[in-house]
Amino acid sequence: MFKLKIFCFGYLTIPFICICFHLTINSKYETQFLNIVKIMLTKICSVDLKSGILCPKCEEKVKSGEVSELDLKVAKILLELENRYQALQTVYFHKALEFKDTLVILVNKGDVHKILSYGGKILREISEKVGKKRVRILAYNDEPRRFLEDLFAPASILTINKIWLPDGSEETKVVIPRRDAKKLPENINVLKEFAKNIMGMTLRVEFEGARSRQII
Ligand SMILES: [Zn+2]
Repeated sequence: MFKLKIFCFGYLTIPFICICFHLTINSKYETQFLNIVKIMLTKICSVDLKSGILCPKCEEKVKSGEVSELDLKVAKILLELENRYQALQTVYFHKALEFKDTLVILVNKGDVHKILSYGGKILREISEKVGKKRVRILAYNDEPRRFLEDLFAPASILTINKIWLPDGSEETKVVIPRRDAKKLPENINVLKEFAKNIMGMTLRVEFEGARSRQII
């Protein structure tokens, strides 16, 4: 009888110990995994980007237009580059937009410097892969003034005002000092296009100098 009890106890204990051991190892492994392996984040699962097959949730985002084909392409490129440029591993990628020869990549506020930290190497690689001459990294910003300051940098902005037109539409007037006209990062039409696509703003750009004012 005693032997039987030990026998049963043994049989029940061994699987129990095994399960406990398995759970401990697994959770330890998972924690370590999460600590060590950081991955660039975006609206699309990284697994989907790597495999090229979208899960139903991500497919819905593409169908609804929340994520564009260009977003997928750029996210995939960034994910490929993160092995060689580790600063990319903590970047949050929001969106990519293109207009003529320029590609704009929107990332989290604190992440712009991470992409620029390799002396433009990352930008050059992205530019080659997407076939765009210019690649710009902008901070995703809900606040219009901060967004415009980044968009127009290194040119400075004197004032930003809202204008309501007789037809009920709204424009945002941006006044730039005339001396900064040459510092604009792109052609004004390109800047206007990006402001429209990213923030939904219709821009009117004016240059203010000592003598005259020019509206574009
Ligand atoms: Zn997914």
